[in-house]
Amino acid sequence: MIAVGVAGAAGRMGIAACAAIDAADDLELRGRADPALGVSLEQILGDCDVVVDFTVPDAALANAQACVAAGVHVVIGTTGFDLAALGQLSGANVFAAPNFAIGAVLMMRFAAQAAAHMAAAEIVEFHHDGKLDAPSGTAARTAELMAQASGRLAPPIHSVRLPGLVAHQEVILGDVGQTLTIRHDSIARESFMPGVLLAVRRVGTLERSPVVGLEALLFDD
Ligand code: NAP
Repeated sequence: MIAVGVAGAAGRMGIAACAAIDAADDLELRGRADPALGVSLEQILGDCDVVVDFTVPDAALANAQACVAAGVHVVIGTTGFDLAALGQLSGANVFAAPNFAIGAVLMMRFAAQAAAHMAAAEIVEFHHDGKLDAPSGTAARTAELMAQASGRLAPPIHSVRLPGLVAHQEVILGDVGQTLTIRHDSIARESFMPGVLLAVRRVGTLERSPVVGLEALLFDD
């Protein structure tokens, strides 16, 4: 059994993560930290092997620091903070993914492949109006991967925030006389949960840390 705590447990993603962990036979939900629950991360760390963080951009790095200082591995889903800062953390393993949905990981991969063959591209990301960061972590990561693959500047990103949306992204590539559109839609937060559970199961045995991106756990290359 892996003992798991959730930071941001009263939030949209935290509630879904708690339900998924609770339903998994090999995981035990040991703590729910959130200001709304009156429980701090420090109060649950002693009971956990792994903490899943779905909080806010301003809290994620300090939370990760507190986890590794206590010898607790951390799986970070929170976006909108500087992932490069994770390189300073030691004491336990750190895994972060801007998007835990397999379809989104494939969308990013296909977009990077296509960027090497098409003249130009733009990214449009659409999220619910409660999302704090813009552009989304997924869009920023997609742009980074496309720049690496094409050797060009990162494509521009357009951010849409509206009620009714969950998490959606279009990568539109253009060339002479043609366009190619790659689109992914998360229509429910459950779409992220298989990826979250995979990361929880694997974070303790990572051979390096930090690891960024679900693709590192899914693909050999
Ligand atoms: P949310 O509903 O606002 O939930 C965040 C929760 O964290 C709130 O209850 C908040 O409490 C709490 N919190 C704030 N500081 C905390 C701290 N220091 N310790 C513990 N809890 C704390 O947001 P959400 O929609 O669930 O999204 C959470 C994050 O996940 C965002 O960064 C979002 O972009 C990201 N996300 C990632 C993925 C992915 O696949 N990686 C998918 C979807 C969303 P207060 O309201 O009191 O501040």
